[in-house]
Amino acid sequence: MVTILCGECSNSPYVLKADHTFECIGCGNVVAPDRDLVLEYDETWAVSRDGILGYVTKPDVCLEDLMTAIEEFLTADKAPDAEYARGVSQIDATDALRRYIDARRAGIARPHIGYTRDQVQEAVNAGADMVLANINIGEPEEDALNLAVNGAMMCLEKIGSTFAEMVEEQYGETVEEVLSWWGWGK
Ligand SMILES: [Zn+2]
Repeated sequence: MVTILCGECSNSPYVLKADHTFECIGCGNVVAPDRDLVLEYDETWAVSRDGILGYVTKPDVCLEDLMTAIEEFLTADKAPDAEYARGVSQIDATDALRRYIDARRAGIARPHIGYTRDQVQEAVNAGADMVLANINIGEPEEDALNLAVNGAMMCLEKIGSTFAEMVEEQYGETVEEVLSWWGWGK
């Protein structure tokens, strides 16, 4: 964590008060971080164990930096000076990891990576509902749209799932039965 020094007296840190504001231990100047602090987009304010106000890099940014450094390490052979590129990427990776640990130790929440199955399910269902609410189509088309939603969820679990596997698992029906719903078979 980088300690934030008082904007008034310029040389003392702020310490947490019971009312959730921070007070300069030197001159008594008070700040409310959410209101008064201007940080870079990739930074967030944090409080040390002993109540001192500072800032850290956001954990998700640290992880992205770490991944970038790893990619640079892996492609270092293509750089004009491969040895140098490898060295720089290792320093960058170590630094990103240090900043991540720093942010997590300061109590900043672990970032969520990727989407959960529930989020994807909610999104595809909301997408289907959105379309259905705005276009006037018949029941066969609605059923087809729902087949696509269920197909998408099957493919999320197992890419390469077949139509037969999907209708068996999601509808308990055979392909022939589904084709017979609306005379879809040829
Ligand atoms: Zn001060």
